[in-house]
Amino acid sequence: MTERTLVLVKPDGVARGLVGEVISRIERKGLQLAALELRTVPQALAEEHYAEHKERPFFGDLLEFITSGPLVALAVEGPRAIAAFRQLAGGTDPVEKATPGTIRGDFALETQYNLVHGSDSPESAERELKLWFPDL
Ligand code: GDP
Ligand code: MG
Repeated sequence: MTERTLVLVKPDGVARGLVGEVISRIERKGLQLAALELRTVPQALAEEHYAEHKERPFFGDLLEFITSGPLVALAVEGPRAIAAFRQLAGGTDPVEKATPGTIRGDFALETQYNLVHGSDSPESAERELKLWFPDL
């Protein structure tokens, strides 16, 4: 069954020149791009996107980071796209959880600066895609 998921190459990934690397891995996996946009995120969108984390101690730092510079938002589609991209990304902590061969495992060192976001469930994907690509 074809799904769509929201992927973000976060500001650290854009600043480090890893947009092509991430897109290349998405394409080589067999997933397809349904939408792609470079944008600097307003505070309100960042807050809504990460609403589930608003009580967490790192929420303020996370918002500051995600609004700190341009990011690339992508709608990615294909069979089991949601889980498939989470597999490509690797675990949230790029050292303790993400394994080599994943985006985070290969290129990141710190949990906050872990390069990419991917929706974690069909419900999240639907909510996040509406937020980022309302016209899709
Ligand atoms: P994800 O779904 O794997 O991206 O992880 P979460 O939804 O749990 O967290 C969202 C984002 O918040 C992560 O990708 C990190 O950028 C950041 N984050 C998560 N946990 C921590 C933490 O303990 N400290 C900091 N500074 N950032 C965190
Ligand atoms: Mg998450």
